Amino acid sequence: MRLILLGPPGAGKGTQAQRLVEKHGIPQLSTGDMLRAAVQAGSEVGKRAKAVMDAGELVSDAIVNAIVAERIDQADCAKGFILDGYPRTLVQADAVESMLSQRGIGLDTVIELVVDDRALVGRIVKRAEDAKAAGQPVRKDDNPAVFEERLREYYKKTAPLTGYYYAKGKLRTVDGMANIDAVTAEIEAVLTAAAEAR
Ligand code: AMP
Repeated sequence: MRLILLGPPGAGKGTQAQRLVEKHGIPQLSTGDMLRAAVQAGSEVGKRAKAVMDAGELVSDAIVNAIVAERIDQADCAKGFILDGYPRTLVQADAVESMLSQRGIGLDTVIELVVDDRALVGRIVKRAEDAKAAGQPVRKDDNPAVFEERLREYYKKTAPLTGYYYAKGKLRTVDGMANIDAVTAEIEAVLTAAAEAR
């Protein structure tokens, strides 16, 4: 199964992706996690991405496309994967298409978590508080000021992907404002229906 999770920052993509990993035994490919790991490691990519990420802007398409192209060739992706936070631009969406078609595989479903923007800032603040309370590092971009920029980037560059995938008949929407278990159940229902339709 090859799946894309779409939705603004704080919509719950990461949480739901982790549940899908457990249930379906396929990896979560989070470009945000990969870029944070690169920053942590101090690699060339990390050095180039850091300031952009801290400002809440998008890292260049060329960098993220290269990271994903390399990642999907690893053995654990053979049975499928969940793309979380990628693609985020139309250029990236076209890159996914060609990456997959070059490998003779396709995309199964794109699930958009639909959320109320006003609730998102609260979620981000809570995520930062929870991380701090658990003694985990707090993401530098999980604060209201940077979050506003991340949300702007989302509407400017990522939201058009819903139309892109709708036109391809791939888009399914799920109410991301429901509680976590209800969202998981709705995603599973979408996946079952998509599998039956194939
Ligand atoms: P995330 O963890 O998905 O919220 O991503 C954190 C940050 O990493 C984003 O605000 C961007 O700066 C960068 N990033 C993650 N994924 C992408 C992507 N697909 N394209 C460009 N930048 C990305």
